[in-house]
Amino acid sequence: MIPFAGSPLNRVSEKRIDSNWIESKWRDPSSLVLPLRRLEPFILGSEKSAPPLQLGLINARLVDSFASAEVPRIFLGLDGDTAVFAIDVPEAGEQQLAGLGYFRDARMAASMVSLKDAAIIAQAKALIDWHERHGFCPRCGAPTKLVDAGYRRLCGKCNAEHFPRVDPVVIMLATEGEACLVGRGKHFPPGMFSALAGFVEPGETIEEAVRRELFEEASVKIGEVTYYATQPWPFPSSLMIGCFAKAENRDIKPDDIEIAEVRWVERKVARELIEGKQVDGLRVPPPIAIAHHLIKTWALGGK
Ligand SMILES: [Zn+2]
Repeated sequence: MIPFAGSPLNRVSEKRIDSNWIESKWRDPSSLVLPLRRLEPFILGSEKSAPPLQLGLINARLVDSFASAEVPRIFLGLDGDTAVFAIDVPEAGEQQLAGLGYFRDARMAASMVSLKDAAIIAQAKALIDWHERHGFCPRCGAPTKLVDAGYRRLCGKCNAEHFPRVDPVVIMLATEGEACLVGRGKHFPPGMFSALAGFVEPGETIEEAVRRELFEEASVKIGEVTYYATQPWPFPSSLMIGCFAKAENRDIKPDDIEIAEVRWVERKVARELIEGKQVDGLRVPPPIAIAHHLIKTWALGGK
């Protein structure tokens, strides 16, 4: 399973427009809420606890004192019959939760909780982040308000509707015979190499984006493109679309704008890299990233 995928929650999206149902679920004593403070999810217990960490899904009554109408509150879905919400904790609320747990950077937290809890973090963080950045209408500039339990914003002046955005990104492992292509972005830590990636542009298919990005970043010509899997990536709102791409030859050259270095890696070396080893000063991303799973699937002969 790829981290951030596989949420245990039933989104019951048809219920979001029923504000009475949403309010009754919020008032239900069994309902749970995941607090986020500055986009960091709440974790139960002490910062000294060893992983796996326990995601801070707490009784909704524990946030009553600061859950005013102005505080973004989002319905995430049902876990069985239990409603699960997320709330953007204001400064005043932070102190009140202090005895129960702590807030932790979302990427770090996601790699230390269960896969199911990581998927809940992905949904909650991406939505709250979107609300924080869309307080004003891009059409007329007037304030917008949260409706449909957090899945729509409505402009109070021109009535324009705005929906949470998901930005498609292609991330692809080019292969040629027994080698795969990895690159080092200019902002990467030293030695870190990954599958190349880039945003899908308007009017472009996934396959076209894969070919364009690989040619732009590594000057490599691509034939067949095949789909692997997708991963929600809430930093802030991407959907990573993992693909394999067959290169026509091994001629490569980094663009020197985004990519500092590109390299072909033989399959047997790739197998060592996905075990977390460093080979010739080179390492690849950990399992939280879909790039790891692309490299692993190919290295173990799945593609
Ligand atoms: Zn407007």
